[in-house]
Amino acid sequence: MSAGPAGAVPATVRRFLGRDHGLFVDGTWRPALSGRTTDSVDPATGLPLARLAVASTADVDLAVDAARRALADPRWRDLSPLQRGDLLYRLAELVEAHADELAVIESLDNGKPVAVAKAVDTGTTAKLFRYFAGWPSKLEGATIPVSPRGGLRILNYTVHEPVGVVGAIVPWNFPVSMAAWKLAPALAAGNTVVLKPALETSLSTLRLAELVAEAGFPPGVVNVVTGDGAEVGGAIAAHPGVDKVAFTGSTQVGRSVTTAALGNMKKVSLELGGKSPHVVLPDADPVVVAEAACDAIFFNQGQTCTAGSRLYVHSDLYDAVMSAVVEQARRIVVGPGLDPRTQMGPLVSRRQLGTVSDYISSGLEQGATLATGGGRPSGLDGALAGGYFLEPTVLTRTTHAMRVVQEEIFGPVLVAMPWDDLDDLVVKANDTPYGLSAGIWTNDLTRAHRVAAAIKAGTVWVNCYNLTDPASPFGGYKQSGWGREMGRAVLEQYTETKSVWVNLS
Ligand code: NAD
Repeated sequence: MSAGPAGAVPATVRRFLGRDHGLFVDGTWRPALSGRTTDSVDPATGLPLARLAVASTADVDLAVDAARRALADPRWRDLSPLQRGDLLYRLAELVEAHADELAVIESLDNGKPVAVAKAVDTGTTAKLFRYFAGWPSKLEGATIPVSPRGGLRILNYTVHEPVGVVGAIVPWNFPVSMAAWKLAPALAAGNTVVLKPALETSLSTLRLAELVAEAGFPPGVVNVVTGDGAEVGGAIAAHPGVDKVAFTGSTQVGRSVTTAALGNMKKVSLELGGKSPHVVLPDADPVVVAEAACDAIFFNQGQTCTAGSRLYVHSDLYDAVMSAVVEQARRIVVGPGLDPRTQMGPLVSRRQLGTVSDYISSGLEQGATLATGGGRPSGLDGALAGGYFLEPTVLTRTTHAMRVVQEEIFGPVLVAMPWDDLDDLVVKANDTPYGLSAGIWTNDLTRAHRVAAAIKAGTVWVNCYNLTDPASPFGGYKQSGWGREMGRAVLEQYTETKSVWVNLS
């Protein structure tokens, strides 16, 4: 098994990686019923990192059964709101206590720099559990002044109840924090969960499941099944015992999850892809903007749903900004996630490297210019020769109809275009199937607010990019999703509202 540079991997992580990882069902660890296993691969080397159980639909049945029983189990159902909050606080503390270990696991399994894994992935995970720990005691209903016929005196009030069993399906780009985006609000609202991480990056979620048990959540409240997306994810989405499916991933798979969910009309929430416009107005500072543009696209190897992948720079600044962007992109240190010098790690899988490389070729075939990047960085040989590395890549002379401008690449590839007319720019910025996020750089407040209002996206950043917080809603317009994650808004996705009418006449 490959486990990164010797010495950089703590003994606790080596022991964890060395185990045969099972499924977490009904509070216990066990192999898949079929006995099937597969390797999780270290993307920096292409070598096996750990062994995972491969679940089948029969394992999903057991996990859903366990989650259904846990819903009615007094050890979960009868907890007071403050007790439910205490469990979430305890989990937040455990994530913080094990942040270094979780970050190393995430970096090895996903490829991202370990500093990013610690600051963003495990940092966000702990923050999410801490934020949602405060919510169980605040899920208030309302008393509603109704006007019934016949002069009846009525007390009408609403209560928010858990939806039931939540099937959560998450992607590989921010594995443990995407799991927490679903788990934290689902548990705060009193649901139980069957969670499926992406097969490429299941390890941090399996470690999180151990911490869930250590925090004292009763058996069956959280279940984790690893395995193939179509088989295990498909079984969760179609399962008649699942009341709601919460999906984060591609728009294409989101569509099939929605279709599968129709059988028992389960509730569906979707966080899907993006192709976010990053807009630079003529008064912006080109140096500041170039740095922000690089961060927005190259952070997490470009494998970020909100990546600022379409850069629109006013033509007055275009040359200055683009030469600074290209210069910065060339300086980015690409390497294995555990090397402290690394600023950009490998892509998550051979498949993803192939997809992104094909997009670069398609852009060049359609007439784009390769301003920098496009290939494998030099100097990554020896143990790293089989890693899925790609240079930070910038394509210029791109035009609106090109596939690289219209489609989500999900890799470190920036397409850049100059603009002159703001109204035309807004039309172009909105003219993709996506509507997840956008960025605007200007000191002109009036125009900043005008563009923010005109852009069809769930999140708009002005003079900043890629900021999120558990207290602020996040989600997509158009084909970027249904519903919102985080903040007060997400709790609507995880509760049913009951209206009670009491005749007082
Ligand atoms: P994906 O859609 O291929 O997979 C997502 C999850 O679905 C994985 O767990 C996968 O195993 C599972 N899956 C695959 N096929 C399935 C099926 N037929 N039925 C049910 N589940 C299935 O996406 P990915 O490649 O893992 O992640 C990248 C995508 O996720 C990008 O499009 C990105 O924009 C999106 N994403 C969106 C957000 C957001 O918040 N909007 C966040 C992160 C990633």
